[in-house]
Amino acid sequence: MFTARGLYIDGNWHRVANDRSEAVINPATEAVVGEAPVGNARDAEAAIGAARRAFDASDWAIRPMVDRAEVIERFVDAVEARGAEIKAMITSEAGSVQWLTESLQFATPIEHARYAIAEARGWRPVALAPEVSPNFYDPDGPGTLGTGVVLHDPVGVVAAITPYNFPFFLNLGKIVPALLMGNTLVLKPSPLTPFVALILGEIADEIGIPKGVLNIVTGGADVGTVLTSDARIDMVSFTGSDAVGAAIMAQGAPTLKRVLLELGGKSAMIVRADADLASAVADGLANFTLHSGQGCALQTRHLVHNRIRAAYVEALAEAARSLVIGNPADPATMFGPLIGAAQRDRVEHYVEHGRASSARLVGGGRRPASQVRGFFYEPTIFDDVDNSSAIAQDEIFGPVACVIGFDTDDEAVAIANDSKFGLSGGIHSADVGRAYSMAGRLRTGDVSINGGAGKMLSHAPFGGIKRSGLGREYGSGWLHEYAQSKTVLFHAG
Ligand code: NAD
Repeated sequence: MFTARGLYIDGNWHRVANDRSEAVINPATEAVVGEAPVGNARDAEAAIGAARRAFDASDWAIRPMVDRAEVIERFVDAVEARGAEIKAMITSEAGSVQWLTESLQFATPIEHARYAIAEARGWRPVALAPEVSPNFYDPDGPGTLGTGVVLHDPVGVVAAITPYNFPFFLNLGKIVPALLMGNTLVLKPSPLTPFVALILGEIADEIGIPKGVLNIVTGGADVGTVLTSDARIDMVSFTGSDAVGAAIMAQGAPTLKRVLLELGGKSAMIVRADADLASAVADGLANFTLHSGQGCALQTRHLVHNRIRAAYVEALAEAARSLVIGNPADPATMFGPLIGAAQRDRVEHYVEHGRASSARLVGGGRRPASQVRGFFYEPTIFDDVDNSSAIAQDEIFGPVACVIGFDTDDEAVAIANDSKFGLSGGIHSADVGRAYSMAGRLRTGDVSINGGAGKMLSHAPFGGIKRSGLGREYGSGWLHEYAQSKTVLFHAG
């Protein structure tokens, strides 16, 4: 059982009113992982106050970038040193299977953090090209050679609000760039996965991140509402659903907050008739079963050329049946549970919609008989899906693939773009040149060709358009999301 020290506010561990707590449940076993403190609006206000004071009155925001990079590097080193404990917690509180915990849940965010630290070390003011101004008072008199530099200031106090599916990845991915740039932060993790965040607070405490620079409060929408509406917050960095993203924009509008929004998706994977079928099926399988379908960038609409669709569907259903379903504590498990009963209800609701539609259920569609406890749901495949139906348009966030047929590339691109989301996408084809041209026409934040680069690159920007969000995380623009430019002008001579 994990025991939390409390909320991390102003460099201290803070007990919540009446010691209010809530059990965090392991979604595979339904056992209690630990009792988590539940913060309230007053705790959120105390954390905002601490972060505001640290920004306005300490030297954090004005220290040289290399000094902050040194502190954040010590933090990331200490995080890695406690990696085994953090990974065990990701597996038990988020239900992530071990291969996923090792790779995308843990190794990738560490790579992102190291990339940002290296970039911060090379950060310099940007010199502006000089320009000559004529002398307006005396056309024959001396002109002015003017130039300047662009500096980058922190935005101020940032509220970071994260979802349950990748708790370590997303919490670290907000702390590191925000603090490197000189902002101070209040982090609110999902109430379903509070412990990974509180471990990060312990590490910040151990390595001596200055008090008030990083604050961690738990709680639900009530705490999130305070963090996104309080005038002392300058920016909200949010990852979560499109509905909550829209609410946050509205909550932050009266005080004109900057928002960085990483939201949901319903991405399309196009399989052309000339694709390598085995590789498309392997990618298709991962794209609806990874983390039981609880991934924002998963390509859960499979647009398959009608000439090969029957073969694709048969091979995908067979591959899905071969997945080892079970408790993520067992390293042999390939497919784990959904986060909780409410998420499983949501998946079941959409599967009922699918059954009632013109689509054909070709696999799954039920809870696995082999699992007596936990919130499991079988990998589920619908063929012949109408792209306008609810199962093709809404983000289900569960292991449900929708196979949709097409006959021409233009039709495939049109169906892929017929979505309120635009986060990710994929194309499988032997003709990589054509796939590249089609990628240019997809209205989305990223496109992988023939399965992509093998992993999430440490320096690739990520983010969406339409209802998938605003702004980009990771890559070369990441630190800029947490910065504002300031132009300083002077005479060059
Ligand atoms: P959610 O939107 O329900 O909750 C996310 C966070 O918002 C939680 O911490 C929650 O307590 C908080 N919250 C809820 N209401 C709020 C309000 N009114 N004001 C402020 N905060 C509020 O998301 P979830 O169910 O935890 O996670 C799944 C969603 O996250 C999916 O839509 C998924 O696509 C998305 N997601 C996106 C990315 C990305 O990078 N684009 C990554 C992971 C997950």
